Amino acid sequence: MEASSRGNAYVKINGLWVIASLGSDPDSSKGKFRDNRDEPSHQDNSQRIVTVQIDNSNGVHSIPLPVLRNITGIGRHRKTHESVSTALEKLKFEEYTVQLRKFSFCCEFYRVLMKHKLHRLSGTVQKYIFHMLEQMTNTAISLELFISPLRQTLKEVFECVSANERSMIGSKSMRRKHHDLVSNCLTRISLFQYTEREDDGNLSLLDLPKECLINIIKKLDQPHDIINVALTCSTLEVIAMDNAVWESMCFHHFNDKEIGDFVSHMELYSVDWLEVFKICSKKSKSLKKLYGDQLVLCNNCRGLFWRTVGHDCMNPDKQPSNTPISPAEFLDLLNL
Ligand SMILES: [Zn+2]
Repeated sequence: MEASSRGNAYVKINGLWVIASLGSDPDSSKGKFRDNRDEPSHQDNSQRIVTVQIDNSNGVHSIPLPVLRNITGIGRHRKTHESVSTALEKLKFEEYTVQLRKFSFCCEFYRVLMKHKLHRLSGTVQKYIFHMLEQMTNTAISLELFISPLRQTLKEVFECVSANERSMIGSKSMRRKHHDLVSNCLTRISLFQYTEREDDGNLSLLDLPKECLINIIKKLDQPHDIINVALTCSTLEVIAMDNAVWESMCFHHFNDKEIGDFVSHMELYSVDWLEVFKICSKKSKSLKKLYGDQLVLCNNCRGLFWRTVGHDCMNPDKQPSNTPISPAEFLDLLNL
C-alpha cells in the first residue's frame, strides 16, 4: 500500500506509515524504504526517515523532524539560545533515550551532564533526567543490554548526588527522592545477572568460523570491550588477541602518521599491533568513540539533529555536510 504527499513516497509497515525521503540524490535511494525501528544500520546521511501519523479523514500528515536550530559559534563556543529543557524536548530525548541506537550516546550525555553541571540544573530538568535514568535502567535490565555503561553512569551520578546534595537546586525532600531513585537504580543494575542460555541445540556465536568472529570483534571500538570479550572464554581470547583485530583498532583510532612513527621501519608481517596500539594510545589524548546514532550539526543550516533521523535542511540545495557532536560537546553548547 503506498501513498504520496509533496513528492515523498510512503509505505505502510506494521500499521505505521513510513516515509522514505530521498535527500539530495533520489535515484540512489530509490526503492529503499526503512522504518524507524531500531535495527542496526549504516545509513547514508542523505537519507531521511520519519514515521508519520495517519489521519483517516484528511490523509497523511508529516511530523516535523526533531532539530535544534540556530546553533551559533564554532568549536567549544557553539551555543544554543534555547533552554536545556527546550533543547532536550526539541531533540526528542525522552522518546529516543531508550532506543537502542541512541542509548549509548544518551547514557554518556547524562553522565557528563550530572558530573559537571548537576548544581546548575533546574528542578524540572533534574526531575526529567532522573526519570530518564530510571527508564534506561528498566530498558537495560529487560533487554539485558548496555548493563556495563549504564552501571558506570549510575555509579558516577550516585556519587555526584551524594557529594553535592546540598548544592542541588530544589527542596530537601526532592533531593532525597532523587538520591533514593538513583540508589535504587544502581542497586538493581548491580544485582543484575544475565539469563543463562538454555542448551537448545541451536547454533551459537562460537559456531561461526574464526574469520567471521574476527570481523565481528573488529566492529568494537573500545579496547576494554575487546579485553572483556577475551575474558569470556579461551576461544574468544584467541580471537580477540588476533593481530588483525588490533591492527583494525590502530587504524580506527590513530592516523597514518601516528602509526607510521612506530611501524615504518618494520616489515608489516612482523608488526605486533597490540604493542603499537599501547604505544599510540599513550601519546593520544583520547580514543574515538563510536555511537549507533549521535547528534550532528548541519554545516549548511546550523541545525543540530540525530544522524540517522535526519533533518529538514534550510539550505537543501547545498551538498550535505555534517559535523559529529559528542555528548561532551552537546553539553558545552547548552545554556548551563
Ligand atoms: Zn541543514
